[in-house]
Amino acid sequence: MSLEKTLVILKPSAVQRGLIGEITTRFERKGLRLAGMKMMQLTDDLLNEHYAHLADKPFFGRIKQSMMASPVIACCYEGVDAVQVVRSMTGATNGRKATPGTIRGDYSVSAQENIVHTSDSPENAIVELNRFFRPEEIFDYSLPVQSYLNYEGEE
Ligand code: ADP
Repeated sequence: MSLEKTLVILKPSAVQRGLIGEITTRFERKGLRLAGMKMMQLTDDLLNEHYAHLADKPFFGRIKQSMMASPVIACCYEGVDAVQVVRSMTGATNGRKATPGTIRGDYSVSAQENIVHTSDSPENAIVELNRFFRPEEIFDYSLPVQSYLNYEGEE
C-alpha cells in the first residue's frame, strides 16, 4: 500500500463529447482525492515528449493531431495505489476491446479517441505530473472523510 498521485488527462474526445462531469464523477465516487485540475491546450513539443514511446508508429501524427484538436483537462488524483486503481478504471487502450464498466469500455469505440490518458506506472506518474503541472498547482489539503476511505493497517 502506498499513497500515490497519478495523472489523468481528459482528452479532446471527452471534452467534445461532454463527458468531463461523468468521468470526474467516477474518480470522486471511487474515493480519490483531486489534488490538481486545469484546462490546457497541448502543443506538438509537449506531445513529442509525452508520447515519445510511440514516435515510430504510423499513427503518431494522427494521435498528436487528435490530442491538439481542442483543450484538454489535466487532473492529478491521489489515493492509496492510485496509479493501478485509475489504470484499472481506464480499461484497455482500444475502446472496442475495453471491458464494459471501465471508462474506455463504457464511452469509446476507438483505439485513438479513447477519452482518457492515465499514467501506467508509479515512475511514469511522477515524470508525467512534473510535465503537466507546476508544483504550486498541486494541492495538499485533507478530506474530512479520509478515515472512511482507508482502514489503517489494511494490506
Ligand atoms: P494507453 O493510453 O492505453 O497507455 P499507449 O501509451 O500505448 O496506450 O498509447 C497512447 C495513445 O495512443 C492511446 O491512448 C491512443 O490514443 C493512441 N493509440 C495507441 N495505439 C493506437 C492505435 N493502434 N491506433 C490509434 N491510436 C492509438
